[in-house]
Formats: sequence, structure tokens, C-alpha cells
Amino acid sequence: MKVKVPVHKNEEYQATVVDLTYEGNGVVKVDDFPVFVPNALPGEKVTVRITKVTSHFAWGRVMAWQTKSPDRVDVKDKKYIQTGIAPLGHLKYDAQLKFKQHQIEELLAKAHREDIKVLPTMGMEKPYHYRNKAQVPVKLIRGQLETGFYKRGSHNLVPIEDFYIQDPAIDQAIVVVRDLLRRFHVTPYDEQTGKGVIRTVMVRRGYYSHEVMVVLVTNTKRLPMEKQIVAGIVDGVPEVKSIVQNINDKKTNRLLGDKNKTLWGKDEIHDQLLGIDFAISPLSFYQVNPQQTERLYQTAIDNAGLDGSQTVIDAYCGIGTISLAAAKHAKQVYGVEIVPAAIEDAKHNAKRNGIKNAKFVVGKAEDQFAKWQAAGLKPDVVIVDPPRKGLAESLIEATGKMAPEKVIYVSCNPATLVRDIQRFAEQGYQVTKPIQPVDQFPQTTHVESVTVLERD
Ligand code: SAH
Repeated sequence: MKVKVPVHKNEEYQATVVDLTYEGNGVVKVDDFPVFVPNALPGEKVTVRITKVTSHFAWGRVMAWQTKSPDRVDVKDKKYIQTGIAPLGHLKYDAQLKFKQHQIEELLAKAHREDIKVLPTMGMEKPYHYRNKAQVPVKLIRGQLETGFYKRGSHNLVPIEDFYIQDPAIDQAIVVVRDLLRRFHVTPYDEQTGKGVIRTVMVRRGYYSHEVMVVLVTNTKRLPMEKQIVAGIVDGVPEVKSIVQNINDKKTNRLLGDKNKTLWGKDEIHDQLLGIDFAISPLSFYQVNPQQTERLYQTAIDNAGLDGSQTVIDAYCGIGTISLAAAKHAKQVYGVEIVPAAIEDAKHNAKRNGIKNAKFVVGKAEDQFAKWQAAGLKPDVVIVDPPRKGLAESLIEATGKMAPEKVIYVSCNPATLVRDIQRFAEQGYQVTKPIQPVDQFPQTTHVESVTVLERD
């Protein structure tokens, strides 16, 4: 169907913002034609200039506000919105939590499933300074080495010292490293020429342990002035337990290379989640908001209703966070995950914590479910925590055949969650409790939730 395009580039319109997309952009309509407008909130009357037109929608920029939303926070520093560090930073936190709840409600309504209720989003008391990990690009800007964050959709670095959503101790460590790199004239990597030394600085800090790891990602085998830089970090970052050089000499957007060289201290740091000790090495996956991850996964485990007698499958198990926490309350846990290194970590973590009733398998969850089903495995509970694309249909079918009492669905994408809820209904599974959203990423548009499905 051909849509008549009523707007043109550089035209200006006065309009009222009618909606907020899942990406956090305001929506205004010109003769029913949608225009997406960053930094515009529902209810606001604005003057919009059209910046880009496609056949089905346009983009616009707010030139002036006639009225502002009562939910608006005046963001003092435009950097956070420009860079995508805090795309919802202009929305009051209460309204962010409602926005996330409504995302799920609207998708359920579209699927004619208003019968399924959604609870208010579990938020953070202090919804900032929560990230336990930073990966910061390093670039030369007007002759000076800078650390910061890329402008949305670009590789233009905006220098930043206060990252707002990161643990402030991490921000401080980055400034220490930046100043050392400047002092010892270490050159930043240049994407165009492929020359230069330092590409990225990564810092992780244990939420409970306070152990800090600094990773210097280099384009070269050797880090010039290594001794001086290491001594400077040890001196300037008192909590540091590990300093690692990661070598990434490929022309790639990937941040980390495969080779690590420990320059000082330990090869890994430790932290705890749900009372379990985890080892974190430079390449390990680890949840970035530990406080909310505990609440999300605890909600999942509580809803599983474990009393020590059950067999549990944890699909998309990563480093085994859910599996190992569930193992304490289950007879046997089986985890499956596609990334071999994550399964190595999961096994290692099980051993360190003395957990013997968790088995981990590398593979595609959908393939492994077919194998388990063929082998006659009868889980009581299946927990899934898939990536954004949700579950493969064959996994849902295999689950139906294995016939667990309960499926606990941890979702990071409401659209695929709602799709999969409908598919589970075909296998005889119904949602038996209101869905619980848990805010894992305050100031951003990510929506995480826990859904309980039970066999009819
Ligand atoms: N609960 C996990 C994190 C889950 S994130 C933890 O705490 O560590 C989703 C995971 O699914 C990622 O680890 C990703 O590597 C994995 N994954 C993606 N596609 C997969 C597939 N088809 N089969 C199995 N695992 C997959």
C-alpha cells in the first residue's frame, strides 16, 4: 500500500506528542503520518522541524516547547541523551517504571490478552550509578587523548567523566587511567589508519567485593611505558586487584580481542550474586546491574516453588547464575547455553561453590531440548532467559512434550514474550500470575520481566 507522505524535510509543525515508542522517542502525527521526535514526551505541545523523511514515517527535532510534561526531568547535561547513556533520562523515574509496565500491557492488548495482568515495575531506590562494568572508547580529539562515549549511531566520541549510570568508583578509575595515558604519551588507536596503541579501557568492580579489574585493550602486542602505567594504576586506584592487557589487533568493531596478558595482580576478580561466589575474568559475561539482577532472578526462583525435590532446566543459562541459585533448592538442575566459555565459567563456579547437582551443556537450547525430550527427561520446572529474539518454536513444542508443571519465563523483550505466551497456550500452558517487570536498566528503554506459566 502506498502511503501519501504529507511532510517534507525542514518544514515546521506545531503538534501534540501522542505517544512514546519502545525506543523512547516521542510520536507526533501529521495527517496520521507518524513523526518520531527524540526528547519529546506524551502530552507536550511542541514545534517540530522535520529532519528526515521515509515512505512510512519521518524524524523530527523539537525546536520549541509550548507546554512541557509534568513527567519531564530537565536534563542538565545533553550528553546523556546524545550518547544513549540515558535515553529515558528526561523522564521522571516513576514515569519510566510505568512506561515499562505499559509496554507489556499494550503488547498484550494488541494480542487480545487483556486477561493477563502486569504488576508495577520493581524499580531501584537510587536509579543511577548502578553499572558494575564500563567499556570506554579512547580517541584523540583536537590533539588530546579522551575517554567518553559515542554519540548515538556514530563513532564520534563525546568526552565524559561522570557517566551517571556507572558505579562512581569506576568513573574515577577511568579518569586515573586516562590521565596516565596522557602523561606517558600513549597514542589512541585510529580506526581510519589502523595505527595507535590504546583502543578501549574496561573497568569492572564487584558490587559486594569492591574488587576492581582494569583492562587496557591495545592494538599492539606491547604496551609502551607498561611499568609506569601499571604503577600509576596501583597507586591511583586503591581497590585494584587485577590489571590486564587485552590485545585486539584486528580492524573490527569488536571491543575485546582473544588474548589476555595479566600485567599485575590476579587474572580474575570475584563477586557474589544470590549468595554464590562468581569468578569474573576479562572476557566473562557477568550481569551489569547486580542489585536488580538479584531481584529479577530471585523473583524467578521464588515463583518456581522449589522444595528440594524438583528437577529443573535452566535454558540460556549463561554463566549459570540462575542454575546455581536454583540448585540450592532443587534435586537436580540442567543448564544449557550456546557460548562454550560461559559454560566453562558455569562449571568452574559450580565447583568453587561446592554445588554438585548442576550439570551444564554447551549447545543451542532448542537442539538440547529435543535431545532431553528424546532421552525421557522429565523436568518439574523449566526456566528460560532467552536473548531478545525469544524462544524457538521447537523449544516450546519440546517443552510441551516434556510436560513440566511450570515454566518460568525471564524476558528482556516484551514483544517476543507475548508471542511466546501465545505459543505456550497451544501447548496447554497458561499465565497464572500477573507478569512482574523488574527494572534492570534505569534511564534506558530496556524492559525485563518474569512470567509464570502453568500446565492446564
Ligand atoms: N541467565 C544468564 C544470562 C542469560 S542472557 C546468566 O545469568 O548468565 C541469554 C543467554 O542466551 C546468553 O548467554 C546467550 O549466549 C545465550 N544464547 C543465545 N542464543 C542461544 C541459543 N540458541 N541456545 C542457547 N543459548 C543461547
